[in-house]
Amino acid sequence: MKISDIELRQYRWERGRPIRNGKHVYTHSGLNLICVHTDAGVTGIGWAHKPHTTGMATVMRGLLEHFKPLVIGQDPFDYRRIWETLWEPKLVGRRGITTRFISGLDIALWDLMGKATGKSVHKLLGGFRDRVPAYIAGGYYEEGKGLAGLAAEMEENLALGAKAVKIKIGGVSINEDVERVRVARETIGDEVKLMVDANCAYSVREAINIARKMEPYDVFWFEEPIAPDDYRGHGKLAAATAIPIATGENEYTRYGFRDLIAADAAAIFNADAEILGGITEFMNVAALAATHDLQIAPHGDQEVHLHLVGAIPNGLIVEFYRETVDTNRGRIFQEKMTLDEDGWLTVPDGPGLAVTPDFEFLEQYRIK
Ligand SMILES: [Mg+2]
Repeated sequence: MKISDIELRQYRWERGRPIRNGKHVYTHSGLNLICVHTDAGVTGIGWAHKPHTTGMATVMRGLLEHFKPLVIGQDPFDYRRIWETLWEPKLVGRRGITTRFISGLDIALWDLMGKATGKSVHKLLGGFRDRVPAYIAGGYYEEGKGLAGLAAEMEENLALGAKAVKIKIGGVSINEDVERVRVARETIGDEVKLMVDANCAYSVREAINIARKMEPYDVFWFEEPIAPDDYRGHGKLAAATAIPIATGENEYTRYGFRDLIAADAAAIFNADAEILGGITEFMNVAALAATHDLQIAPHGDQEVHLHLVGAIPNGLIVEFYRETVDTNRGRIFQEKMTLDEDGWLTVPDGPGLAVTPDFEFLEQYRIK
């Protein structure tokens, strides 16, 4: 089987209401779908890096022109050779949007291999378990939301079956955020896990300060407390608080995670296959983490990551985005995913990623 063409389908839409985390306001969402076609008539679909702006969408189209000739004519089952050919630091840089493009392409190859063999990606990767714990991500800052709105959102999460939830911090004063953490904890009770995510909003000193103030609320992890490149700062923070530190959603390749490990930066890695280099490199990162008894709780889309958490022995929990996080979150794929009574997800056993983009629905948002 040979790859005959690579196609980039880009979509962008306005969110119903802008959402804000510790550092960024998101007004738009979208999709960069990378479709890998073959001479056997099988197509694999991956995706990476939302086109937050039209400028970023244009960059992705340029990258398609760069990578396409390197991939056409290759056998998709030679995914390691393809990866090493594409990730050439001298030509495309070590990190950033080029690695994100490679990520989407690599995910498409795995979807393709699954479709060609009739097996799920989870099965191809070793099928460690077919049910995985999940947490509902949210707790964003929104206009007029307040503590009551946050509590209402947590109630809704419980009604959806959540046994673990995450809220944002870092967007208001430390004392206000500690109040938000208190309200979230009191709303969900003692048995539900609570994570917090600062999206790199703090200095090391501020992060240590809020970590100590949050300790009474049994925080399961403190995610992206500080700038992603401050490896030593992560180490200092981790040594100064009892709350486990999580990071890695802005980290790239096995080399980046090697450096985080060397700095004792975190107990949990939020590795994201759509960012760090695809499924192929995600598995390298997961194995590297396993050799240090560190756990993987991926950042990002559940459609990809539940296969991966299901495939590795050190997979901790899957991030799950509710439909409310984005006007179209529940419409992108034809298949719908829900938490079961334990707050877990079942890994789909259909071919590939076993999700199908709803192209008909998405067409209205297509970037031409
Ligand atoms: Mg995060």
